[in-house]
Amino acid sequence: MALGKSYVRQDCSLARALEVVGERWTLLLVRDCFYGVRRFGDLQAHLDIPRAVLTERLNAMVAAGLLVRRPFGGRHEYVLADRALALWPAVFALAQWGEQYWSPAGPRRIFSHAACGTDVGPRGLCPFCHEVPEPADLLVRPGPGADPTARADPVSIALRRPHQLLTPLLPVPQSARAASSGEPDDRPGRTAHHRHAEP
Ligand SMILES: [Zn+2]
Repeated sequence: MALGKSYVRQDCSLARALEVVGERWTLLLVRDCFYGVRRFGDLQAHLDIPRAVLTERLNAMVAAGLLVRRPFGGRHEYVLADRALALWPAVFALAQWGEQYWSPAGPRRIFSHAACGTDVGPRGLCPFCHEVPEPADLLVRPGPGADPTARADPVSIALRRPHQLLTPLLPVPQSARAASSGEPDDRPGRTAHHRHAEP
């Protein structure tokens, strides 16, 4: 465990959770994976994270059972494992807390229930369906507090339009598609193929 970041003497599950997700970048990587970012280069471009740090974080997240790394297109892609999918309520609540106290121009991201199109409330409840949708049933779009000129990386540009969580955000590069042809995907329904990328 890294220096000064171990809470093993704390008899507290929050402390244990923070040992896994409390390091800088980890929750933002989880967030990006919920947005459907799957490749190393896209994560790096969106987060401006040094390559060595990103490599270390991804390795640690795979080791902790947060991410699944699988071959794709001669490289790898990263998808959330169950114990990271279970972080959604915490990620959403933390983001809403940020919107409440540190986004004076209004929310930077708005989430809506894909099934009915209604925006969910700050606790994730769809007021139309009276249920809290799973992340896969949510769309994300920019809110009034978002600055559309802040960034111009492919992830930021793609997120300017409504996008369904956990579906691939970016088209698969031609080279990756060629290299991965014939390789069976092990998660039907959550394939890496972008809807615009297939002929
Ligand atoms: Zn609804």
